[in-house]
Amino acid sequence: MIEIKTDNDIKKMRYAGRLLAETIALVGEHIKPGVTTRELDEIAERYIHKAGARPCFKGYGGFPASICCSVNDEIIHGIPGDRELLPGDIVSIDAGVEKDGFCSDSAKTFAVGEISAENKKLLTVTEESLMEGLAQALPGNRLGDISHRIQEIIEAAGFGVVRNYTGHGIGRNLHEDPDVPNYGAAGRGLRLTKGMVIAIEPMVTVGSHKNKTLSDDWTVVTLDGSNAAHFEHTVAITASGPEILTKLD
Ligand code: MG
Ligand code: MG
Repeated sequence: MIEIKTDNDIKKMRYAGRLLAETIALVGEHIKPGVTTRELDEIAERYIHKAGARPCFKGYGGFPASICCSVNDEIIHGIPGDRELLPGDIVSIDAGVEKDGFCSDSAKTFAVGEISAENKKLLTVTEESLMEGLAQALPGNRLGDISHRIQEIIEAAGFGVVRNYTGHGIGRNLHEDPDVPNYGAAGRGLRLTKGMVIAIEPMVTVGSHKNKTLSDDWTVVTLDGSNAAHFEHTVAITASGPEILTKLD
């Protein structure tokens, strides 16, 4: 069942979204060679708590940290730990914040120092696919219009679209209906209406989109070892078009 949000719900989600955008920006300022992913997690958790909010990921399904840190061939759900970031790495930071009963969810892949041309292209194309896809989040459009636009951009660049993880509805819960795939046919699927709020999150691989979960039961990596990127925004569908809730003012 898809829960339609009121204007007041969206106001609360806008606040949770901005807190999350600030958190990810703060983490981004600390991303440099030598920092450990655990330090990044601590920075995020401290900021979220100081704002009187709750990190939604912590304890979700048993996840042990406040953010996911996925490095290089790790696509999503990397667990923060002792790993030190190295020059040339890329690291995807994914996090969620709950405030006043509503959640936000956002992700961004960062460069660690100077990165290769291929990695730069991967980050650019993944973010572009998110922004182009979310521009389709209009009342009257279909879910497939978003999915198709994302897939089109990623595959035109020669990259892979992860199939077995998707975006999702979001609100009082981190994950709600509907699923928001990053591939599909335009003009197909659910009709979008004002008051829907969805997390759109392309996960993109340099090589094959095929992936597996490591023995820690969380970290999802590419099967071929190629690098991956992940960008995500929480987006409200309003009468006048998509509103990104997880952005800085
Ligand atoms: Mg996320
Ligand atoms: Mg999400």
